Amino acid sequence: MSDHSNQPDSNQPEQPAEQASNESQAPVARTGSMGNLDTHSERYAERTAGMTASEIRALFAVASRPEVVSLAGGMPNLAALPLDSLSEEVARLVSEQGQTALQYGSAHGVPELREQICEVMALEGISAHPDDVMVTVGSQMALDLVTRIFCDPGDVVLAEGPSYVGAMGAFATYQADVVHVAMDEHGLRPDALRQAIDEVHRQGKKIKLLYTIPNFHNPAGVTLAPERRPEILEICSRNGILVLEDNPYGLLGFEGQTYPSLQAQDPENVVYLGSFSKIFASGMRVGWVLAPHAVREKLVLAAESATLCPPTLNQMIVSRYLSTHDWLGQIKAFREQYRERRDAMLGALEQYMPEGCEWTHPEGGFFVWFTAPEGVDAKAMLPRAVTQRVAYASGTGFYRDQLGSRQMRLSFCYPTPERIREGVRRLANTLNEEMEL
Ligand code: PMP
Repeated sequence: MSDHSNQPDSNQPEQPAEQASNESQAPVARTGSMGNLDTHSERYAERTAGMTASEIRALFAVASRPEVVSLAGGMPNLAALPLDSLSEEVARLVSEQGQTALQYGSAHGVPELREQICEVMALEGISAHPDDVMVTVGSQMALDLVTRIFCDPGDVVLAEGPSYVGAMGAFATYQADVVHVAMDEHGLRPDALRQAIDEVHRQGKKIKLLYTIPNFHNPAGVTLAPERRPEILEICSRNGILVLEDNPYGLLGFEGQTYPSLQAQDPENVVYLGSFSKIFASGMRVGWVLAPHAVREKLVLAAESATLCPPTLNQMIVSRYLSTHDWLGQIKAFREQYRERRDAMLGALEQYMPEGCEWTHPEGGFFVWFTAPEGVDAKAMLPRAVTQRVAYASGTGFYRDQLGSRQMRLSFCYPTPERIREGVRRLANTLNEEMEL
């Protein structure tokens, strides 16, 4: 799906987006978009078997109807952006620097932006050299490139269970096997990490990466406790496993709090991913990767073959935004907007949900991870929830191994607080009916 372009003001219906393209485990059908038989099916490379389509894509068309409250998508809410001053800045950029902004650039990224990215990362304790930063088309591209340069088919990537669907899509594309590592309310569990490593080694497989989202996790809504971080780094380094730290939400702590980055604690064994999608504008498609020098060089080669260079215009817009706008004040405004929505969701869950439900209490980011009572199958319940005019992302899509059947991800980033409360009320009604069935 989905059209991200006709974008929000908060009066518009929520569009359940983001996970739609890569949510499910279902293999790509051998039919084309019109439902006809795919006459090319014998030609595709083997790796396309791992490319998956959304099992609930059909439902999304229904779920994006205005009467449905969507708690399913992960779209940032851009209502707080200063569109007028931004458009003036873009016009000025094109008239003053159009010859550069509309030209090819280097795969490494615009130098001035890379310097500014270092300032952004310094807010989380990272001390980086602009040479070691590469600009990417969102951190999604960085996920693809990092997997491309490190993973052969059959290599293992350890990832939290549940994990970000877009990352699992990238791992699947390169035929890497995801092995999940359990979390609790303090994030990834070091004991579970040790166990998973032992188990994979017993099977004689090679572990290439630990993929982790330490802050305000998508979809789990938890944050890795600072005291666990050195231990996790030590386990990985001892076992020769590179850490891939994905941190798009790190500056969205609702109290303005930040956490010590893994990269800052072990720069030679961590590849760090950042993004402007949640702290500025997701449609810019500007993210970055910070990597040890040799890895960064390899990534630039991979990026050249993928895109030649990231869009110069978008990079220069972001750079100009950072130098002309109060971007820190803007992040604060985003945080306040998301905190209000998180409060609305947690309050409504407390008020409406029946006995036996559990949920996480995120201190930042976009998501609550919800566990329904024993016996409920969240995926099977989804069509009935949509009939009650509420949608969510069912938990199984966030695992490679069909776990998560009682779970759902509830996003509070996009709908208004009133809509969130109403959505949770409808979801509680659906659950109550489900349990009576
Ligand atoms: N990582 C995580 C954990 C995410 O939630 C997302 C977006 N939903 C991304 C990476 C990709 O973000 P982008 O490509 O917009 O930077």
